[in-house]
Amino acid sequence: MTENDFYKNFEVPEDLKFRVADITLMGGLNCSAKLSPKYFDNIFTPPNKITEVRVELEFWLAGKEITVRGRVWGKRNVRCDRCLKEVSQSFEEEFMESYSAQSEIIDIMLLVRQTLALTEDIQFLCSDDCKGLCSLCGKDLNEGPCQCQPEILSPFAALKGKFK
Ligand SMILES: [Zn+2]
Ligand SMILES: [Zn+2]
Repeated sequence: MTENDFYKNFEVPEDLKFRVADITLMGGLNCSAKLSPKYFDNIFTPPNKITEVRVELEFWLAGKEITVRGRVWGKRNVRCDRCLKEVSQSFEEEFMESYSAQSEIIDIMLLVRQTLALTEDIQFLCSDDCKGLCSLCGKDLNEGPCQCQPEILSPFAALKGKFK
């Protein structure tokens, strides 16, 4: 089997644990895959959840190292931090990491999971201009103004109730 045939028949491992020997034999590798969401089940705090994941990977050899650059994208169900509504939205992240060419296995799943876990530290919003809930009556202000609205226009109105 020539290098070319090997490349053609190469299948991306479902768990993204790549054998360094395979990548070295092919002199690097470009590949993409759709991943089972089961690998991302416990990454976010419920109800936030990753529902669809795809990756695109590029491996190259340089001296004693193998570097991988990747893109991960897909869908997630998240609760908006401002209005608490649950929405499905797209995401996309990039990552890059180097490994010793002496390693036997490169665990890209770990890298992808770490990249996605970090995204939960950022606020999730249903849309960039989400108006959130009224802090007084709790109404979803995306659906229209509430009764308390005119009072909030004065900077002192919000304080008034607190000192009664
Ligand atoms: Zn919202
Ligand atoms: Zn209100």
